[in-house]
Amino acid sequence: MEETDVLVIGGGPAGYVTAIRAGQLGRSVTLVDRSDIGGTCLNHGCIPSKALIDAADDVHAIRNGGGRGIDADVDVDFDQLTSWKDGVVRRLTKGVEKLCRANGVTFREGTARLVDEHRAEIDDHGTGATDAIAFDHAVLATGSRPIELPGFSFDDDPILNAKGALDLETVPDELAVVGGGYIGMELSTMFSKLGADVTVVELLESPLPRYSDDLTQPVQRQAEKLGLSFRFGQVATGWERTGDGKLRLTTEAADPDTGEDAAESLTADEVLVAVGREPVSDTAGLDALDVERDEDGFVETDEFGRTSVDHLFAVGDVAGEPMLAHEGSAAGAVAAEVIAGEAPDPVGTVPSVVFTDPEIGSVGLTESQARERGYEPTIGEFPFRASGRALAANTRTGSVKLVADAESGAILGGQIVGPEASELTGEIALAVEQGLTLSDVASTVHAHPTLAEAVMEAAHSGLDQPIHTFNR
Ligand code: NAD
Repeated sequence: MEETDVLVIGGGPAGYVTAIRAGQLGRSVTLVDRSDIGGTCLNHGCIPSKALIDAADDVHAIRNGGGRGIDADVDVDFDQLTSWKDGVVRRLTKGVEKLCRANGVTFREGTARLVDEHRAEIDDHGTGATDAIAFDHAVLATGSRPIELPGFSFDDDPILNAKGALDLETVPDELAVVGGGYIGMELSTMFSKLGADVTVVELLESPLPRYSDDLTQPVQRQAEKLGLSFRFGQVATGWERTGDGKLRLTTEAADPDTGEDAAESLTADEVLVAVGREPVSDTAGLDALDVERDEDGFVETDEFGRTSVDHLFAVGDVAGEPMLAHEGSAAGAVAAEVIAGEAPDPVGTVPSVVFTDPEIGSVGLTESQARERGYEPTIGEFPFRASGRALAANTRTGSVKLVADAESGAILGGQIVGPEASELTGEIALAVEQGLTLSDVASTVHAHPTLAEAVMEAAHSGLDQPIHTFNR
């Protein structure tokens, strides 16, 4: 029987990073995935979506010269765009395969199922054979899958999850999106910029419910400017095909007490359902080992990824929120180090970003979270309309906000809505993680003219020494 020190089940950003790190630490590692290496993020999520979002942003930027004397129409060859996007994915997954090999990781395509404490079976998709493998430690990194709404089966071809939407061969004329969260807002903005007529049906009263109104309002305003329609406080209840090949989607008030319980309908060519994701914790034989899971099926772990079974770890989406690729990778590296006998710190501050227009980035504590934890926060804020670089890039929406402890000046968190918020969040994450103060950031010279100066200027504002803005 084949033997390995570490069996990693699931080859997404959590699993492959676990495998690489364990390989670097001298362990023999077998990484098993039932599909291509790279998981949802590389194959059907983060990477293909960002490829299309960036392309749609380019199209939008060219079509909207904004008084700069640029006047052009753009022809999008969607076939070519999607094959280029697939090429980006292929290049990255091949790169990950190479990295695994270089770090001594054996990759096996197949479905792994734990059969007892130290043995798993791998059902080889290529040959149909089943092999047994013995392991000292196993790491579960099986990820998550999109939640299906009753009546909206992903097996019906006009009902799409994010993977289906990213694999579309044409831009739909009319797209209905159920759920205005991360996926709903990122993809509806992208399809709208590529010419689709998009309606978002959202249960709550605003998009992106995980973020505060001051961050989401600029996103909603820009979406409406692009022509997106919202149906807030509504749920989708069903769909049918109409005579002309279109779909009719029915929606109704989420809360019948509003008195607005009359069913409404909208037409669409495709329906994207993005109402959250659930853990894949039922495919790898966890019952054989009595691994504890919570009521939603997420595997319970300690801060190092160790499950209720001492030599079994779980990392990434299957281990619960935040279901973010970068958190999974960080948790995977920690688990690999614990398995190798090292004493790593647990995963620290995890930034979250939304690739909408404008982008949102958030890290550490918000002002209200800081108060709840007993801090007396001081706030530093800098609007992009006062940034030379933002104006030169034809944008002035949003701001950088820093939350610091008034007593020590330590930066506790930051929230950004605006251009390149996803990139700028990294500097604030560094400050939070390393316990830097407002003075540390304010006295660090930032190149001019850059958007990153907005973080420094927010620190100046937090110290009540604003240079290019006025404090409230
Ligand atoms: P989400 O939790 O972000 O949003 C789901 C939305 O659907 C919410 O706004 C919710 O109120 C709404 N909703 C729920 N039930 C509904 C119903 N019946 N009718 C209408 N609306 C309903 O989930 P998602 O967008 O599916 O994304 C899943 C996960 O993927 C996220 O939690 C995130 O972890 C990850 N993700 C992250 C990024 C990123 O980091 N930029 C991008 C995409 C996905």
